[in-house]
Amino acid sequence: MDESARSKLLALFEGKLTRAMEVYLETCSRCGLCTPACHAHASMPLPRYSPAHRAEVVRRIYRKYFKAQGRILPGWGQAKALDDTAIEELKEAAYTCTGCRRCMLYCPFGIDTQQIVSIAKLLLIGASAEPETLTMLADMSVAKGQNVDAFKPRFLDGIRRLEVKVLERWKSEAAHPIPTEVEGADMLYVALAGAHSIIPAAAVFNAARENWTLSFFEAVNFGAFVGDPNKTKLILERIVNEALRLKVREVVICECGTAYRVMKQLSGAQPFRVSSITEVHARYIREGRIKVRAKGITRPVMYHDPCQIARNGGVMDEPRFILRTLCADYREISPEPNYNWCCGGGGGLVALGEETFDFRMKSSRIKADQIAEFGKCAPGDGGILVTACENCHTQLGNINTHYKLGLDVQFLSSMVADALVE
Ligand code: SF4
Ligand code: SF4
Repeated sequence: MDESARSKLLALFEGKLTRAMEVYLETCSRCGLCTPACHAHASMPLPRYSPAHRAEVVRRIYRKYFKAQGRILPGWGQAKALDDTAIEELKEAAYTCTGCRRCMLYCPFGIDTQQIVSIAKLLLIGASAEPETLTMLADMSVAKGQNVDAFKPRFLDGIRRLEVKVLERWKSEAAHPIPTEVEGADMLYVALAGAHSIIPAAAVFNAARENWTLSFFEAVNFGAFVGDPNKTKLILERIVNEALRLKVREVVICECGTAYRVMKQLSGAQPFRVSSITEVHARYIREGRIKVRAKGITRPVMYHDPCQIARNGGVMDEPRFILRTLCADYREISPEPNYNWCCGGGGGLVALGEETFDFRMKSSRIKADQIAEFGKCAPGDGGILVTACENCHTQLGNINTHYKLGLDVQFLSSMVADALVE
């Protein structure tokens, strides 16, 4: 790596040095309490999978260039030059961390390893060493925001076809069971690209007689997965601007953990509230706006808390309220939802597909054990594993097959739609 490339990367590093980040970088007693907290380490007990090791990869560069000792003493063991080897280490640290923040709960100083890892991700982008797929997907989302009119006709054609499917299954008095561009709607629903994210949601909104409208944009934020703050902001702003233009009161994010956390925590003060679809469904049931078959599901049901919705988003009671209403045999797999094991698919790992499959399966052994131990479901018992995040759903489906759990992996929103009583 030449000097000018290194200077460019160090400028990126410096830009991340807020006071909080400096505290995270300077405060680690190496007590190791976070080590067993990470699902990757718990599944594969190797030093390189401990949270403190991932942070140390970044810390050594910090000490080398931003601390006096590192600058003065070239041989100081706790410092490391930012070179091609360091880039490889940063890559492993960044893309073996799902950003679940379970380790933070165990650290006596509350060190946020995910924040430290965000420096690694930024340096990788600066060195053009980040996973190309994630950047490509983020760029496509940004381009859609800049040329939305070019996308609209095809999008609307697709929606009209989905409306037929909604009406095949559920009654609706609405002229359009999937409304778009409704100025003054109470709610803007931001879905993922896919019928499974739109059809059940539409059925429930219509049953609740909600005044809603579907966003033109997909909720997922690939800018956040790849750790690019500019692209994260541009992708987020598309939805914020749409919500402001339509003057909605509430933005509802589909079952996508990262999309929910980004919208909730990074959209700033806005004239609309931000909710997850799970919160909205729980509200409809509590307020009697929809009628569902109570205890109609008799198969054993377990819920996986998506890290970005539960631990990092605070939505833990609502899915349990919904499932205890719908199911006769709800089984808790995480007695303390805040401490639930990550599924191992976050941080962009699921989006990278086959490339990360081997690591995702090996690092999720502890998750498979948790499901088997607490769910007490043998293959053949008809157990259902439910979640409220697209990434988790894909990863849990992979875990289910890989570890031969014999479960049926479902989305919570689909279960609500299926339980609707006319
Ligand atoms: S944020 Fe999660 S994946 Fe990353 S180091 Fe901490 S526990 Fe491990
Ligand atoms: S628990 Fe906190 S202080 Fe202890 S090793 Fe982990 S990050 Fe460092």
